[in-house]
Amino acid sequence: MYTLNKKGHAIMEVEASIPYESATGPTWWRYFEEFKNEKIFGTRCPSCERVLVPARSFCPDCFVEMGEWVELAGEGEVTGWSLTNFHYFGMPVPPPYISAQILLDGTNCDFYHMVGGFDLSDLDLVRKTMKIGTRVKAVWKPEKKGCILDILHFKPVGLE
Ligand SMILES: [Zn+2]
Repeated sequence: MYTLNKKGHAIMEVEASIPYESATGPTWWRYFEEFKNEKIFGTRCPSCERVLVPARSFCPDCFVEMGEWVELAGEGEVTGWSLTNFHYFGMPVPPPYISAQILLDGTNCDFYHMVGGFDLSDLDLVRKTMKIGTRVKAVWKPEKKGCILDILHFKPVGLE
């Protein structure tokens, strides 16, 4: 069945899905398995010594196998963020939510996740709380599946 859009054009709403399976490989398998223990790991490059998170099998700059696994504290500082208020197709969680780049302590690259745990409808509070350098800590879901959303969000440290 069709409807007319604002311009008077006939449109049909359809929903399409593409089933797809992707092998995680041993590195991402271990990385996500450790989420079940509420642990975030990075890997250190033996050449440039950077610690990258998510854990990787090789350094994208040096093209060498990553060596040591490094357990991270699950805490870091915000290096960038944006607030999403509108719903769109394929969102990981319902809005509002904050997408953030977080430099986890002991790492050398940004980690992407959400920041929450406070009233995101209060824009003054959001502006006051979310600064470059705001300290945040991972909040884990009680039930874990070994996926990125095992981390509910990162919560600003010291915020009740
Ligand atoms: Zn490297």
